[in-house]
Amino acid sequence: MKLSLYNTLTKSVQEFTPIHDREVHMYSCGPTVYDHAHIGNLRSFLFPDILQRSLRVICGYRVKWVMNITDIDDKTIRDSAIGSPKWKFEFGTQTSDPKENVRLLTLYYEQAFKRDLELIGIKKSDFSAMPRATDYIKEMQALIVSISSQGFAYESEGSVYFNVAKWREHEQYGRLFAIDLEHFKAGVRIDADEYSREQVSDFVLWKAVKDNEPFWDFPFEGKNLKGRPGWHIECSAMGQALLGLPLDIHTGGVDLRFPHHEDEIAQSKAGYGCETAQFWCHNEFLEVEGKKMSKSLGNFYTLQDLLNKGMDPLDIRFSMVNAHYGSVFNFTEFGVESASKARKRVQEYIYACFEGNVGHDHHAEELYQLKQEFFGALCDDLHMPKAIEALFTFMKNTPAHILSNRDRPSFLELMNDINDIIAVWTIAPRPEESIPDEVKKLAEIRWNAKATRDFALADDMRKQIAALGFAIKDTKDSYSIIKE
Ligand code: AMP
Ligand code: ZN
Repeated sequence: MKLSLYNTLTKSVQEFTPIHDREVHMYSCGPTVYDHAHIGNLRSFLFPDILQRSLRVICGYRVKWVMNITDIDDKTIRDSAIGSPKWKFEFGTQTSDPKENVRLLTLYYEQAFKRDLELIGIKKSDFSAMPRATDYIKEMQALIVSISSQGFAYESEGSVYFNVAKWREHEQYGRLFAIDLEHFKAGVRIDADEYSREQVSDFVLWKAVKDNEPFWDFPFEGKNLKGRPGWHIECSAMGQALLGLPLDIHTGGVDLRFPHHEDEIAQSKAGYGCETAQFWCHNEFLEVEGKKMSKSLGNFYTLQDLLNKGMDPLDIRFSMVNAHYGSVFNFTEFGVESASKARKRVQEYIYACFEGNVGHDHHAEELYQLKQEFFGALCDDLHMPKAIEALFTFMKNTPAHILSNRDRPSFLELMNDINDIIAVWTIAPRPEESIPDEVKKLAEIRWNAKATRDFALADDMRKQIAALGFAIKDTKDSYSIIKE
């Protein structure tokens, strides 16, 4: 099956074919590790996770997936500086070396980030690499030298800037996002990593060191420019070093379309002479209870905040992935509760396929239809709500007890593939441990009571078992205990 995706570059849904034979090279902009990731950030990592899983499971491609860790930028430097109120003793002891302080702070948050990923079902083993920006300084410098040798960069007061006016004489600038070029003033420079589309100007590739900041030596046109890379150059250099450009797919949140991704396109074309990616895919934002997430509104959540409220990380995953990545997602507690119930219903259906009564009619046609509808919806620009709806319609019309001996393995096999993508269920019989000893004891008494034809006792036991939330299904020579 082929998958179609909305490509921000062409503003259309296009059928995806990898550049390399059956191997997808995908790069996702990762977190800036100066704090814990918030749940909006997590949405932008769940989207490429679902995408890479779909490409493997549905299309049968191998996927090389790289996500960078931004460990050097204005914020990591600010929060690790001597006297920063953000310094925590868990990071270690602050030193007199600013580079070491940045390393301590970012390592702490990188580890926290990786734990968050595991909790919400994004597997470490699915990444080919998670590079830290500071391990690729040499590659970034080489790219800046190359951009300069092509005449698209210049030095000013120890920093190096990309010359947007010159670039626009050759190539379009503003390919991903309509930017305001009317107010563009050639030669106006901007040092900040994030800026608005009204502020189009020459952006920084290399930033001159300021007092007490970490720096690297950079031999550039006969000088040593002590400083550090700008944010945009990181992704160009790491994408090239680890996957080679052009990439098949580059992902990130919609806010990264400009300036981050636009600048990546310009830099890579200027320095490497090639396109950055054939598909640019962006997830929309996550809001909380209908409002933009912000610390001042008190609706700013990390994953840990939600776990502290008693939520299950897999319910959070299910609630977030059961939405189209291209629409704003409204995260609510009610949404997680509903996701939790829905997830349990599917899990019970799976358990029921391993136990209880077996139906006589076969349902191969319905199963085939479910497969087509589920994967068909995902192939249509990852339409997850439509795919999950197909699963629930199937479960409603075809309850587990009417599935035949032939249907059950087919359903579980299909569910294995579905779960390789959604990853919130267990495709196995109900674990023994989930049945309390008390229930097992009552069930044993009931079984013996039945054998001795003490039906009053057996009935009483059944009622007590029901009160504990379980039911007994008798077979010819035995019985099974089922959670209601
Ligand atoms: P950052 O750590 O700020 O560099 O952001 C990491 C990723 O999170 C980027 O791809 C952003 O686009 C994305 N992101 C930030 N805020 C949100 C949000 N509220 N909803 C969805 N994605 C977001
Ligand atoms: Zn990036």
